Amino acid sequence: MTFDPVVLREKYRQERDKRLRPDGNTQYLDVSGDHARFAADPYLESSPGGQAREARFAEVDALILGGGWAGLTMAVRLQQAGVRDFLIVDQAGDFGGVWYWNRYPGVRCDMESYIYMPLLEEIGTMPTEKYSGGPEMLEHARAIGRHFDLYPRALLGTTVTAVTWNEELSRWVVTTDRGDVLHARFVMVGTGPLNRPKLPGIKGIETFRGPAFHSSRWDYRVTGGDWNGDLDKLADKRVALIGTGASSIQILPRLAGSARQVYVFQRTPPVVNARNNRPTDPEWYRGLEPGWQRRRMDRFVEVMAGLPVEDPVDDEATRMARRVAAAVRSGSGGAPNLAAMQAVDFAKMEEIRQRVSDIVDDPGTAKLLQPWFDYYCKRPLFSDDYYPAFNNENVVLVDTDGRGVDHITERGVVVDGVEYEADLIIYSTGFDANAYTDKAGGYQLTGRGGMTLAEHWQHGVRSLHGMMTTHFPNFFVLGGVEQASISINLPHVTSRQAEHVASLVARFVDTGVTVAEVTAEAEQRWADELARVHIDRSRFEAECTPSYYNNEGKVDDPKPTVMGGQYGRGPIGYLAVLREWAAAGVDRDLSMTTAGGVESVPGGGR
Ligand code: NDP
Repeated sequence: MTFDPVVLREKYRQERDKRLRPDGNTQYLDVSGDHARFAADPYLESSPGGQAREARFAEVDALILGGGWAGLTMAVRLQQAGVRDFLIVDQAGDFGGVWYWNRYPGVRCDMESYIYMPLLEEIGTMPTEKYSGGPEMLEHARAIGRHFDLYPRALLGTTVTAVTWNEELSRWVVTTDRGDVLHARFVMVGTGPLNRPKLPGIKGIETFRGPAFHSSRWDYRVTGGDWNGDLDKLADKRVALIGTGASSIQILPRLAGSARQVYVFQRTPPVVNARNNRPTDPEWYRGLEPGWQRRRMDRFVEVMAGLPVEDPVDDEATRMARRVAAAVRSGSGGAPNLAAMQAVDFAKMEEIRQRVSDIVDDPGTAKLLQPWFDYYCKRPLFSDDYYPAFNNENVVLVDTDGRGVDHITERGVVVDGVEYEADLIIYSTGFDANAYTDKAGGYQLTGRGGMTLAEHWQHGVRSLHGMMTTHFPNFFVLGGVEQASISINLPHVTSRQAEHVASLVARFVDTGVTVAEVTAEAEQRWADELARVHIDRSRFEAECTPSYYNNEGKVDDPKPTVMGGQYGRGPIGYLAVLREWAAAGVDRDLSMTTAGGVESVPGGGR
């Protein structure tokens, strides 16, 4: 494959510049206030959390906020560590987190099921496919709930309104929209980075006369059909699909098979790799040695980090990681060969552009679908039926040349002065992944002395391992956005954090520790370590097309980007830090008070 790197780089810059805009992240609308209807839960009534219930007044050892993978694994690990007195609260009507909300037709996991679905061995489940569909994910979450008897300990369909530390009681006081008042010794937050849908901040959204919803609130009452498609109520309808990200590329093929007309509004063409899904071979699955899932999860991040290890997953994601790693290692004298790495990236993107041309019949449409940026600027996507959908006569690509949709009218969507009339608008416009923990749950978190987490972090996140912070005793955050480390296989790190927190809390409960708070010195030490191993991504991010990866192109903003705020040694290094700290750091870094009011301050003895 021949290409001119200089010409390509220039083309990438031109395409990026079209998309840069002064409003950055503020271009989006929150689904609250006037737009709260976009957050309404279409599934609540038919879910366990949809039942009326009395308000609860309870005192528990632990309260887990979030019933997705992070919250579920937290509950399971607490239980296994002997802490059985806990409650789980989730706004959703059932367990499942993102899989509860994202029920759009075609929703499927981008990660291999065998490493993505937590607790497979414990539950004894075999995913039916290498990349299983959304219903199977949701069912697995429910199966975890049943298997570990978590439903009686769950307050579902329940929105937390405030989480406040009460100094006198040494308890967190949590209130909810169902009138519950819950006192908890320990609070764990597992609400994830993808729980707040966002809308494009364009004029006229509220004027559209027909139905409209966000992809994470798919309303089958409007479309008919189910996850498989067969959206029979759309047979005579024109549908506007706004956005061409991870959700949209899965939705389009099902819409194309059902609706009279589909307009796809594109701002930035995504990178869509081959998916190559296949059914699980039961014999292979049965033959896996106990402990296989943990090893496979670890191996995946090692491969993605470029380590020369065997690659059990062997898909488009890991193959690209291996190609990049081989290029990096090709330098002489041990120095990373960055030029070779960039050449691999250019080559891969040329392959993607060729893939589009090979699949899409109309050359004009194919050209508009070709992405022009470095491969890792945005989350690479995988689908075998997205590009072919454009060969359907009822599918029209409306490219906005990087500017996005102009506005919405009562009849439809306007781009470049042309109004595309529609009977239904679907906003497949993503989530506020840059909403940091201080507001991700949508409730006020107040620690010691009435200080909110937003105030505490107004000059930036301060934490130990991204999980504990001063002024917020007995409080743990699961996840990888700030000062921790994210793996693209999200449940990997959160499930290990859950184990870590569970053993810590079990130790506190066993030894009568009532209050444990990280010291300012420990936070500073972690800040120093973060700085020491920091990988400066700002030059790379500045070259990238805007997205939530690079703060919508505002790389110099004081808040770190999703990627830039993380521990530089990646998930492998991060999990090693947690292990080392659990063995040697607890007494050094936490001030702890026991039941009789005896305080142990690091360095100060008892
Ligand atoms: P994304 O953020 O990936 O995509 C949002 C889309 O909306 C982009 O194409 C964006 O364009 C477009 N958009 C935003 N504003 C406008 C506008 N004004 N006019 C036109 N288009 C606009 O959201 P998704 O919901 O698709 O995915 C979010 C994340 O969820 C993914 O990154 C992934 O982590 C996860 N996910 C995982 C899945 C899986 O495992 N199977 C499936 C779905 C989601 P632009 O690119 O220009 O910003």
